[in-house]
Amino acid sequence: MTSRTHDDVDVEVLVIGAGVVGIYALYRAIEAGFTAQTLEAGDGVGGVWYWNRYPAARFDSESYTYGYLFSKELFDEWKWEEEFATQPEIERYLNHVVDRFELRRHIRTGQRVVSAIWNDGDNLWEVTTETGDTVRARWVISATGGLSVPHYPEIDGIDDFNGEGHHTGAWPHQQLDFTGKRVAIIGNGPSGAQILPAIVDIVEQVDLYQRTPTWTTPLNNAPMTDEKRAWLGDNFEHVVETLNTSPSGFLHPPAGKFSTDDTAEERQAFYEQIWKAPGFGKLTSNYYDMTTNRETNLEFCEFLAGKIRGIVTDPVTAERLIPKDHLFGAKRPPFIKDYYESFNKPNASLVALRETPIVRIDATGIETTEGHRDYDIIVYATGFDFGTGALTRMGIVGRDGLDLSVDWEDGPFDFGGFAMHRLPNFFFPGGPHGAGGGNYPRYSQDQVDWIADTLIHARADGFDRFEPTAEQEESWMTMVETLAPLSIFSAEHSHYYGANVVGKPKKFLLNPGGRAKLHEILREVTSTPDYNGALEATRERVSA
Ligand code: NAP
Repeated sequence: MTSRTHDDVDVEVLVIGAGVVGIYALYRAIEAGFTAQTLEAGDGVGGVWYWNRYPAARFDSESYTYGYLFSKELFDEWKWEEEFATQPEIERYLNHVVDRFELRRHIRTGQRVVSAIWNDGDNLWEVTTETGDTVRARWVISATGGLSVPHYPEIDGIDDFNGEGHHTGAWPHQQLDFTGKRVAIIGNGPSGAQILPAIVDIVEQVDLYQRTPTWTTPLNNAPMTDEKRAWLGDNFEHVVETLNTSPSGFLHPPAGKFSTDDTAEERQAFYEQIWKAPGFGKLTSNYYDMTTNRETNLEFCEFLAGKIRGIVTDPVTAERLIPKDHLFGAKRPPFIKDYYESFNKPNASLVALRETPIVRIDATGIETTEGHRDYDIIVYATGFDFGTGALTRMGIVGRDGLDLSVDWEDGPFDFGGFAMHRLPNFFFPGGPHGAGGGNYPRYSQDQVDWIADTLIHARADGFDRFEPTAEQEESWMTMVETLAPLSIFSAEHSHYYGANVVGKPKKFLLNPGGRAKLHEILREVTSTPDYNGALEATRERVSA
């Protein structure tokens, strides 16, 4: 495919971010023959898998379902070590992909974007980085991720601490030595819960500061075997087909039954089986009605509470670890080995913040209403400014003065979770309303594929602008608002509602219609006059 270059741009396609999605977007752009470049804030590639290098950070989607599917050779040659790979292997994999497909020369690291301004007259974006460089691009794909802006808790004195204080999402490159240290972990989402068992045996003391208990279940990881690798290779087409079409983007076999198909006794046996299922299988292989039938979910929660009580020897701690405010799956559940077991160690304790809130952090440690504890290290596992965080901090100004940071003050308004009216030629795959709660890269891949196909289509037909119409945006947002209460991730006290960031509007930030809805609107847009209409609008701008 030949590349049609324009004198007025530096590159046709500018990708922002070299994480899982950005690397794929760059690959698709280069493969399609566009001139393309990536600007990446970090000093290396990997996105969240570059920044989140805390102990035991790992996938909780199966490695081979999270990795890329566009190349059978890549799929065969990368020999994942475990079903759920750890961060170092993931970072190695992403670097391998970048080198294997000769993408590195198109990637500029250490380039944090501080402004992206639409030049309507010239029909291009002017994107400027912290270093003062400006790139003029026809199309921008901002693959800046939903979980890329760390959220620090609003605690008095947080800057006074003299020890080491680190957020999981901005972990230092020189690994911290936890040996013999007194450690506080604030937050018990997937990040905080992963760290606790990883360090409990080497630290002097570790206290987990928990605000809201989560339904944490075992990951059930295993080493990858040659047999499994061979099966995956032999069944590549089936694997790809399943991952590309299933609502969740996983390979987990469905239960094939409703809870009412089993007796009470059979259900308990089934829950035991689910407890042993890998990762998200506890949701995707569970009874069909697990997330829609409150009684069924309550019964499963009671089963899980029984597990917690059976594992944690101190009954007071066990009760504190049992969620009381949400059903299983209503918040994104962590999947972690030995999480509850860690609280049985003599040097680990749980601080229940609902009972004894933090008063302040000072030079030596943390003061709660119960007293003061000294620490060498405080881990902030307090999550991210989910969905909108990166985009609203990038100085994005679109058509007719649209300032994204202002326009989204009351919550994001978009089309398909990846584009927006008045942001011509700007795509943000993996953005707010992008993922539906399944395997994140699979949803983002759908979006990137559609974007890449649209750019190819535009080039072939001689158009150089795409912008969703106000009606398309309105219709998508109506779907989001209507279906949000029906989403499985319905707990409003969650980062999926932006509730973890003080002052952030409480708006649902996933795509509650799921993958089927995303595919439906992408098909609709492609096959209706709107698609060409949106491109048609600037036909006259094209320099042939
Ligand atoms: P998170 O799920 O948002 O959890 C943040 C934790 O910090 C929550 O327990 C929260 O309590 C607590 N917290 C926030 N502000 C606080 C405050 N001011 N005082 C005390 N506690 C506070 O964040 P995360 O664990 O980093 O996970 C974020 C997402 O990253 C996950 O949903 C997942 O998608 C991804 N992730 C995946 C993996 C994996 O296994 N692959 C690992 C880590 C992360 P409340 O619940 O009360 O707000």
